[in-house]
Amino acid sequence: MSRVLVIEDDADVGLALGVLLRRSGYEVDHVQTGRAGIRAVHSLRPDLLILDIGLTGMDGWQVLERVRDLSDLPILILSGRGQEADKVRGLRAGADDYLTKPFGSNELVARLAALLRRAAPPTWATEIYDDGRLRIDPLQRSAQLNGVEVRLTPTEFRLLAVMVRHQGSILNATQLLAQVWDDPSGLGPERVKFAVLRLRRKLEVGNSTGSLIESVRGFGYRFHRSC
Ligand code: CA
Repeated sequence: MSRVLVIEDDADVGLALGVLLRRSGYEVDHVQTGRAGIRAVHSLRPDLLILDIGLTGMDGWQVLERVRDLSDLPILILSGRGQEADKVRGLRAGADDYLTKPFGSNELVARLAALLRRAAPPTWATEIYDDGRLRIDPLQRSAQLNGVEVRLTPTEFRLLAVMVRHQGSILNATQLLAQVWDDPSGLGPERVKFAVLRLRRKLEVGNSTGSLIESVRGFGYRFHRSC
């Protein structure tokens, strides 16, 4: 039985979705805030996420970005706004489908079934990395160097996480663009170069010696663990 997580702040809509989806044979969990949603994605590991964009507190866009750091599970966005720009933004930010409220229940169920049919089983990148000097916690989206929090932008965090996951191997700019940037079309190797420079600078503060990220001229970049 597929497990669907619903992040929707409107209790009535959440309840209605729960009834509809259970009737259609899904196991359903519903949470009302983005923060609870990210925790639930981590702990429940659902097969599919239905994400409302108009949440109070952390909005759906932020949740989408955070969830994408953790997993490639299929995400269907629900939004009250039907503007094309929002749809494009959602799809570019890594959503798999988009539905505007109010929607027909048959359409929702059909889209979920199609998403699950197309999707490979989700993969998860939720493990904490800790080599004694650098510590990365994907769920908290925090990076610490020698016990001190390093403030990273979402792109820098993702860049670091991807390089750490491939530690010891050289990743070229094209690979990094594809894995780190949501919409790499029109971006070139310069973008990667500057992002790596900024990241290296942030990781070299304090009394650390040597660089964690090596530039290999003509090839790309490589992360070395520090011990
Ligand atoms: Ca809402």
